[in-house]
Amino acid sequence: MDLSVSAIRERIAAVSQQIASATSRPIDLVVVTKTHPQEVVLAVAEAGAQFVGENYAQEVRDKASAIEAVRASGVSVQFIGQLQTNKVRMIAGLVDCVASVDRASLIDEISKRMPSTRIHLQVNATGETSKGGCLPDALPELITRALDQGLHVEGLMAVGPTSAREDETRAAFRCVDELASEHGLQIRNYGMSGDLNIAIEQGSTMIRLGSAILGNRN
Ligand SMILES: *Cc1c(COP(=O)(O)O)cnc(C)c1O
Repeated sequence: MDLSVSAIRERIAAVSQQIASATSRPIDLVVVTKTHPQEVVLAVAEAGAQFVGENYAQEVRDKASAIEAVRASGVSVQFIGQLQTNKVRMIAGLVDCVASVDRASLIDEISKRMPSTRIHLQVNATGETSKGGCLPDALPELITRALDQGLHVEGLMAVGPTSAREDETRAAFRCVDELASEHGLQIRNYGMSGDLNIAIEQGSTMIRLGSAILGNRN
């Protein structure tokens, strides 16, 4: 895929149109730059992206100079991958939001290394054990813990089922939407390249797109 600034800008515009034709709700687009080199992070920002998503702590550190540059220009960088507690310090100071928070030990470490940062709690709404995310029942306790430690809990994040079956995807996202309402959280961070339409239909306010904007990853 063409990774020039103008080509990326066109694909972002096409997605924005697709969103606008599906809903009048504003939806933020996180462009997922994992596995792409620093030049691509810079190109994505230059193409007008407001949010960039990264998955791996080591990669965030390796790409620190591009990440710092795009943040300086106003882009918000979101960590969306499974995060080991001993890697939190690697991303401290480099990301604006950790969207994949799913357990108490991670909350404790983030509040220690990245005080008062913004977080989304990741929910496992599909019951697949291979997936990150807390069970819905654990949410009240995690929300309280995060707030008590001064973190800003802005929303819920989820990854759709691996099966990609429409009915299962729809049920999972609907569940997360209801949980966000129940807990008074605004951001519903779900929807990827493969399940974007169902996510929008089910109340997503923030989608994370990698391949739809940047093509296949190596
Ligand atoms: C890789 C990744 C994405 C983007 O996936 P695409 O299918 O390329 O759009 C979104 N969210 C998470 C958590 C990811 O790991």
